[in-house]
Amino acid sequence: MPMRAAVITQPRTLEVLEVPTPTPGPGQVRVRVGATGVCGTDLHLFDGHFHARFPLIPGHEIAGVIDQVGPGVSDLQEGQLVALDPVISCGQCWACRRGQRQHCLRFEALGVTQAGGFTQYVVAPATNAYPVQGLSAAEAAFAEPLGCVAWGILRLRPEPGSNALLFGAGPIGLLLMQALLVSGVAEVTVVDPVVERLALAKTLGASHTVQSGPPMAQALRDLKPHGFDIVAEATGLPGVVEAMPQYAAVGGRLLIFGVAPEEATVRLSPYDIFQRDLSLIGSFSLNGTLPLALSWLESGRIQVKPLISHRMPLEDLHKALKYKEHPGMGEALKVMIIPEG
Ligand SMILES: [Zn+2]
Ligand SMILES: [Zn+2]
Repeated sequence: MPMRAAVITQPRTLEVLEVPTPTPGPGQVRVRVGATGVCGTDLHLFDGHFHARFPLIPGHEIAGVIDQVGPGVSDLQEGQLVALDPVISCGQCWACRRGQRQHCLRFEALGVTQAGGFTQYVVAPATNAYPVQGLSAAEAAFAEPLGCVAWGILRLRPEPGSNALLFGAGPIGLLLMQALLVSGVAEVTVVDPVVERLALAKTLGASHTVQSGPPMAQALRDLKPHGFDIVAEATGLPGVVEAMPQYAAVGGRLLIFGVAPEEATVRLSPYDIFQRDLSLIGSFSLNGTLPLALSWLESGRIQVKPLISHRMPLEDLHKALKYKEHPGMGEALKVMIIPEG
């Protein structure tokens, strides 16, 4: 039986095709996709960046119901709703042995180097499938981006009672904001150009919101004359990264979370970083942090329903990727592709 899949056949060409339905091999499960989130990475892949191999079924934020288990799978059953960790690591290389699985020297990932979730069925190692309780598939599909946020939190190690400044109130920014708040940060100030996003940030727990623009710098200095303990960005904008140190308090921790263009560079003052005891922290992908994300989702401590702006069928993936060229889509937040929708 063939299935329908959104396939990037070559850079900048996306087609919905009939392809063979995969069969789970030893140690694998097959998942009937309930929802797959659209992410900036999918757009980069569409444009031919990263180590993409075409043809590729993209989509790495996947949740669905197990419909077949392969030989040797003991701890999962058909009918279970699972969230998939897309990172497939070898477990044997130098990076894996150091516990840095997302840097595996033989890195593979669902929706990046192997068939992902913008289709009806996806096969994954059973060890990548995490059973989910009390969530819809669309909510469970947030386990992957929130797992990346969880890794960022583990990298950042926020101090209890500290305060944070966050640039960017897109879906990732709004997840990061909530994760900071459930990780002991007392107050988060959020900056974004879009007032609707700032309003949502406020609803989800932001202590203050500031619209980006010329008066922003003064507004932030008025809020925290000595600077913020944590300055994080979820924008991928080099200009934002350059501006971050000026808002940090002495001893401040700066988290670069957004995906900047690979060739971008920024100007920073080494003297300033030295003299004010600043820390500059990067965070890449997720590293075994999907269960932590699920615990935040299942406990209701982190809200994701308000982040879903669109639910669309496979045929609309192209529109979702290029939403900026479709005024009708408005200010998209997280777009969920529902293959059976
Ligand atoms: Zn993603
Ligand atoms: Zn490895």
